[in-house]
Amino acid sequence: MASADKTGFAGIVIGAGVTGLSTAWWLARSGVDVLVLDKGVVGWEASGRNGGGASHYHSPLFHEEQRLWPQMDELLGYATEYRRERVIFATTDYHLENYRRMAEIGRGLGYQVDDLDPGQVRERVPLAGDNVTGGIHLRYGGQANPQRTVQAYAWALQDLGGRIYQHTPALRIQAAGGKVTGVETPPSRPLSCPWVASTVTASMAVRPCAATWPMAADRMSGWTRTPVGPDADPRARCCATWPDG
Ligand SMILES: Cc1cc2nc3c(=O)[nH]c(=O)nc-3n(C[C@H](O)[C@H](O)[C@H](O)COP(=O)(O)OP(=O)(O)OC[C@H]3O[C@@H](n4cnc5c(N)ncnc54)[C@H](O)[C@@H]3O)c2cc1C
Repeated sequence: MASADKTGFAGIVIGAGVTGLSTAWWLARSGVDVLVLDKGVVGWEASGRNGGGASHYHSPLFHEEQRLWPQMDELLGYATEYRRERVIFATTDYHLENYRRMAEIGRGLGYQVDDLDPGQVRERVPLAGDNVTGGIHLRYGGQANPQRTVQAYAWALQDLGGRIYQHTPALRIQAAGGKVTGVETPPSRPLSCPWVASTVTASMAVRPCAATWPMAADRMSGWTRTPVGPDADPRARCCATWPDG
């Protein structure tokens, strides 16, 4: 278990979602003494509630995503429940047309995608109904369990000596002479470090470093699932809690 009284680090990452935890884990793998801070608990926000899809063909990091996901369970030493491939089916011609367009993009990126007629969909997805108009079978991408994924990163980080302080909000990034010196957290105990990485787009936090992050409004719709919570598995409690014990 990580001791919670250490205050000096080589670097601090703010936010124990998948972005912060994976950043910290890759750094810890390279021997960096890193701390992750979170105002709440590991994976309690977007990272523990998303669909777990791993098929981001529109992303500039798509090829890296496809290369890394199949390796992550082994690299982390914990299960993310990642499964490769994905069957997507439609019940209207309009949606089928969109999925076929998605298939074309996948092929254009060098990946195999099979077009499916309604019978082939039902072979692969027995629960699909008679109203299926067709589908596609992505031989790439897939899905992971988002809650298991954040847990896996957190445990793997701790295995490498990285620390996670939960219930520890970053109030302000401290800087002196144009350089980062630490992070202010309540009640009054600063944490020192020569750099900070933040997954939290709070302009208030970065202003002391004379940095600005461009923000734009966006819209999304979807569904969420509720994280299983830190008590779901006793090992989740090994994350240090500071400053309130
Ligand atoms: C409905 C939905 C579906 C999605 N589906 C998918 C999908 O299928 N596949 C996919 O790849 N992505 C999906 N995403 C996107 C994905 O969930 C996010 O891109 C990802 O979780 C972002 O991770 P993060 O670590 O940056 O943010 P978060 O998980 O939000 O983590 C940020 C962390 O920062 C902490 N924090 C905030 N302020 C402070 C502070 N001042 N001090 C300390 N800590 C602080 C928060 O407590 C939080 O834990 C989906 C998102 C949503 C909402």
